[in-house]
Amino acid sequence: MPEQSGNEREKLEALLEETRIYPPSKEFTDQANWKDATLYDRARKDLEVFWAGEAETLDWIKRWDKVLEWKAPWAKWFVGGKLNVTANCVDRHAASWRRNKAALIWEGEPGDSRVLTYAMLQREVNRCANALKSLGVKKGDRVAIYMGMTPELPIALLACAKIGAPHSVVFGGFSAESLRERINDGQAKVLITADGAWRRGNVVPLKASADEAVAGSPSIESVLVLQRIGSRAACPMQPGRDVWWHELVDRASTSCDAEPMDAEDILYILYTSGTTGKPKGVVHTSAGYLVGVSTTHRAIFDLKDSDVYWCTADIGWVTGHSYIVYGPLANGATSLIYEGSPDYPHRGRFWELVSKYGVNILYTAPTAIRTFMRWGAEWPEKFDLSSLRVLGTVGEPINPEAWVWYHRHVGRGRCPVVDTWWQTETGMIMISPLPGLTATKPGSATRPFPGIQAEVLDDKGQPVGPGGGGYLVLSQPWPAMFRTIYGDPDRYQRQYWSRYPGKYLTGDGAKVDQDGYFWLLGRVDDVMNVSGHRISTFEVESALVDHPSVAEAAVIGKTHEIKGQGIAGFVTLKEGVKASDGLKDELREHVARKIGALARPDDIFFTSELPKTRSAKIMRRLLRDIAEGRVLGDTTTLADPGVVSRLKQQYEQEGLAE
Ligand code: ATP
Ligand code: MG
Repeated sequence: MPEQSGNEREKLEALLEETRIYPPSKEFTDQANWKDATLYDRARKDLEVFWAGEAETLDWIKRWDKVLEWKAPWAKWFVGGKLNVTANCVDRHAASWRRNKAALIWEGEPGDSRVLTYAMLQREVNRCANALKSLGVKKGDRVAIYMGMTPELPIALLACAKIGAPHSVVFGGFSAESLRERINDGQAKVLITADGAWRRGNVVPLKASADEAVAGSPSIESVLVLQRIGSRAACPMQPGRDVWWHELVDRASTSCDAEPMDAEDILYILYTSGTTGKPKGVVHTSAGYLVGVSTTHRAIFDLKDSDVYWCTADIGWVTGHSYIVYGPLANGATSLIYEGSPDYPHRGRFWELVSKYGVNILYTAPTAIRTFMRWGAEWPEKFDLSSLRVLGTVGEPINPEAWVWYHRHVGRGRCPVVDTWWQTETGMIMISPLPGLTATKPGSATRPFPGIQAEVLDDKGQPVGPGGGGYLVLSQPWPAMFRTIYGDPDRYQRQYWSRYPGKYLTGDGAKVDQDGYFWLLGRVDDVMNVSGHRISTFEVESALVDHPSVAEAAVIGKTHEIKGQGIAGFVTLKEGVKASDGLKDELREHVARKIGALARPDDIFFTSELPKTRSAKIMRRLLRDIAEGRVLGDTTTLADPGVVSRLKQQYEQEGLAE
């Protein structure tokens, strides 16, 4: 990134600095799983010894010969080792004292619920694995999965892993077209779906979309259909192709041998969220991935065997793969899965679930936290949240005000907050506090996990000094790293590894402060250039969200004749707040006061909704297209295409578009 003049830079940084610090309490540290600060040094000194130590916690069919083979950008971890991921996540617990421990506690949106112990989960996974075999699925065949959040979803993933068939999960909120693209990219042989899913009391017609998708997906031979909804979902079955879960799976045998898998055999393919463009088919393999996700899950969430752990993500995203299914189950955890949305039937549903099941660890996203802030603290206050011990967040940079609200109103000031930075590509959490060791600062993901080396570089590949913004890169391989882009190894090399050879380009901007803490600044593409100064959209957004009237904000740089780029802010107000020109001026001044006059937005635009991906991240690139009067880019990963077209219309009417 270009240099900023010394004075201006200092001015910016002095004002942006977040000074609040939250050290872990002595009580927490005393009981923490990881509390030895020398860990970081030990992992740095001998990466292979560090990860090999973690790999010992898994059950291996054959031990590895070599921990790492690294010919950048191609990595092999635990070379020569053999194991089965499902044997590690289910079978070994079902054969231990955890046999009758709850593996999954599931709550349906309409209020139905189910508990599966490890022994029960094992039987269901084996049945599903045998059913897949009866449909002709063999080791190496791809299976597409398109379902809502019912227990059969993790069961399907684990069944695939048991027989060595890579799965490709497509989030149940995607359209037929998106599903078809993903099926065809991976050439899946079988599709597992459901008649429908519940969403705010309505039926999402999954099977209808699946039919439409499969009509253009010749690789699909069979469709396995779970009945979740029943008579309220039309579900015509195509003879010879479609088969009901309750007819095939429920009658299958409950015993199934685990397929011995090479450490580097593919576990799954998963597409990225599509925030910056067309999604990529990320490939994860077996052993290194499992070592990475189980280690980070145990350490970062301070998991105890008695805990109830709840990650609110959908299994259709990497967060659900790594931190609902594989990490927690490998660790023998009890995991809560909720089918529905946070405001159905009321806005206290999450807190009601925390109190009903005594949730100890909660892992959610900044977008959810900002929504809860908008609804008001009275919702969490109505419920008993005293069971909570650790709070996590992932998905976007968290605005400091949202962090503090989460800490205060959900954690009641007692619970460490772990802001975890990672990506579909990284497979596991890469930058995060360790809750018993790290003093946290609201808005900072703090430090790279032991064994992870992250750096902030400038255009020329030189490290940027404390406080300066640059490109976040990872300079050393890690076990859960993706191995390639499915069917496109060139893109893997070109997009991620060519800019700084041997180093992984994350695509995110970041800065490191005097204490070595990392502050994520959003996508590199989202950083603005205002009169030669690099200003992060995220920092201006955080200044806006800091204002008591603002619920959420998306900031973009818009072409400006004199300044290069001007700043435009799209703002959603808190409930009950009235939009006015006076408020616009007040918000512009508020940003100028918090960050500096340079960052004062040129335009503020009030909107009731912001465009988001289906994984609920703000899509700034579409706002840029709107503000600059361009044709909209790829919109297939949008949660609600209506939001963008309404916004475009409104924006043009208000005469802001040039
Ligand atoms: P695409 O790669 O298709 O554009 P995406 O990057 O949104 O989509 P994901 O892999 O789901 O796909 O998201 C990873 C990105 O999410 C990160 O690169 C980062 O921008 C953002 N992110 C995740 N967690 C955090 C966090 N704790 N702090 C800041 N940013 C985060
Ligand atoms: Mg990405």
